Order: sequence, then C-alpha cells, then structure tokens
Amino acid sequence: MDLDDLYQEIILEHFKYPKNRGSLNDADLKLEGKNPFCGDEIKLTVKFNGPTLDRVEFEGTGCAISQASASMMTEKLKGKTVAEVRELINEFSSMVKGNKEAVNTDRLGDLIALKGVCDFPTRVKCALLAWRVVEQGIEKM
Ligand code: ZN
Repeated sequence: MDLDDLYQEIILEHFKYPKNRGSLNDADLKLEGKNPFCGDEIKLTVKFNGPTLDRVEFEGTGCAISQASASMMTEKLKGKTVAEVRELINEFSSMVKGNKEAVNTDRLGDLIALKGVCDFPTRVKCALLAWRVVEQGIEKM
C-alpha cells in the first residue's frame, strides 16, 4: 500500500462512516451551502461554549471528497475558537490549492488525505465546500 492508497482509505472511511453526522436542536449557528459544479450539499449546525465551537454536526449529500472533507472538518473544529477556526480554514484552503509551504501537517492531521485534490481543480470546490460554509457563518463574529 503506497501513500496514495492510504489517503484514499481515509477518505472512503469518512465517506462511509461520517463523524458527527446529524443536526443539533440547540444550535447557535445553522449553515448550508452547495457546490453546483458537482451537486454536493452540506448543512452544518454549530453549538458554542463561550468562545469555542463545542459541537459541530453536518448532514449532506454528494461526492466522497465533499462528504469526507466535511466529516474530517467537524472533528477538527470541535473545541477550537473562532480565531483558530479561521487559521485552519486558511491552512486547509492553501493545501488543497497546492500551496505546500503554508501547510502544517501536524495541525491538519487526517485532512492531509485531501492534499491530492490540488491536482484536480474541479475537486477543489468539493473539498472546500464545508469549509466555505463555516467561513461564511463565522464571517461577522
Ligand atoms: Zn463533489
């Protein structure tokens, strides 16, 4: 198994068994977005605990890249402050757009599995969908 296969494995695992799938009844933020190029849809609910994102859940339909990215993202954002979330969004965006220097592999963890999408411009929108939804949601915070 080479590295690409391993990454593929992580993506498929999150696609088949997504983390934090659902919708929070007591959400502070309800967000949604679509990627018309691929037909992906993501709905996110976020509950804050003071300045940090306490719980993040998502529902969605679409390709494996978009859904796996959302699943990994919800794991990553829990317990982070809005400022930290902004940094992660920037870092993840840089990675999938192929800017290797900006990437801190320790911080991104499993999300590194999505690095390969930078070679496929149409898939970059899939990978970024969930992140754009969060970015818009916290824009004015
Ligand atoms: Zn897609």
